[in-house]
Amino acid sequence: MTKAEILAKAAREKRTLLTEIESKELLKAARIPVVETKLATSKAEAVEMASKLGYPVVMKIVSPDVVHKSDAGGVRLSVMNATQAGKAYTEILANIKKHYPKAKIVGITVQKMAKQGIEVIIGMTKDAQFGPVIMFGLGGILVEVLKDVSFRIVPMTKRDASEMITEIKGFPILKGYRGQDPADIPFLEDLIIKVSEFVDKNPEIKELDLNPVFAYKDGAIAVDARIILEPAK
Ligand code: ADP
Ligand code: MG
Repeated sequence: MTKAEILAKAAREKRTLLTEIESKELLKAARIPVVETKLATSKAEAVEMASKLGYPVVMKIVSPDVVHKSDAGGVRLSVMNATQAGKAYTEILANIKKHYPKAKIVGITVQKMAKQGIEVIIGMTKDAQFGPVIMFGLGGILVEVLKDVSFRIVPMTKRDASEMITEIKGFPILKGYRGQDPADIPFLEDLIIKVSEFVDKNPEIKELDLNPVFAYKDGAIAVDARIILEPAK
C-alpha cells in the first residue's frame, strides 16, 4: 500500500494507531531499514510466506487493539519449520483471544528473524512548545528502568545525532564492551537523521517508535515499528 492508501484506510476505520506492517511500509518507503514483513490472513498463507522468506521466522499478531504484542502472547520468535509456523499461528490467536476477547484481528505477520544485535530505540514525540523531538537510547531494561535516553529537536544536524549517541550512559556498550561487537555508529547517526527527516516530512505523524532497532558491526535494522497519527481534524 502507498502512504495515501494507508492514511485513508486508517481514517476510514477511525484509528490513529498504524499497525506494525503499515508502519514498516511507510518507513521502508523512506529508506529506513526494516525487517522484511508480510501479512498473512490464514494459517496456510502464513506457512507459505514463512517458507518463501526462509526459516527461522518471527510471527506476530496484527491488531489495532493490541499495542504491546509480546505482553499478550502475540509474538513468536525462532519459528523453525512449517509445523511450528502452523502451531504458532493458532497459539498467537488463542493468546490474543484470552487477553483481548474483543480485539479486532487483522492477521498475523510473518517476518524474517533478524540476527541478534545491540538493541537500541529511536523514537519521536511531539512537544507542545518545540514540536517533534527525537529520542535515542539503548533497548530493554536500560530504557525502561534507567531511562538512559537522549533527546534532540527536529530538524537535526549530523552533530546532534552524533552527540545523542555519545551522551547516553550506555555508550560504552555501543563501542563494544568486553570483546562484544561494537555498533556501527556512523550508520546509527545516519539512521537518526533519516528518522528526523521522515517525521519532518510527515507532519500527520504524532508519535513514532522503532523499538527495537538491532545495531550491528555493519548496519542496523528496525525489527518493530509503531506509528501513531495525529487525530483527524
Ligand atoms: P512488542 O509489541 O511487544 O514491542 P516486538 O515486535 O518488539 O513486540 O517483539 C518483541 C521482541 O522480539 C523484540 O524486542 C525483539 O527482541 C524480538 N523481535 C521482534 N521481531 C523480531 C525479528 N523480526 N527478528 C528478531 N527478533 C525480533
Ligand atoms: Mg517492540
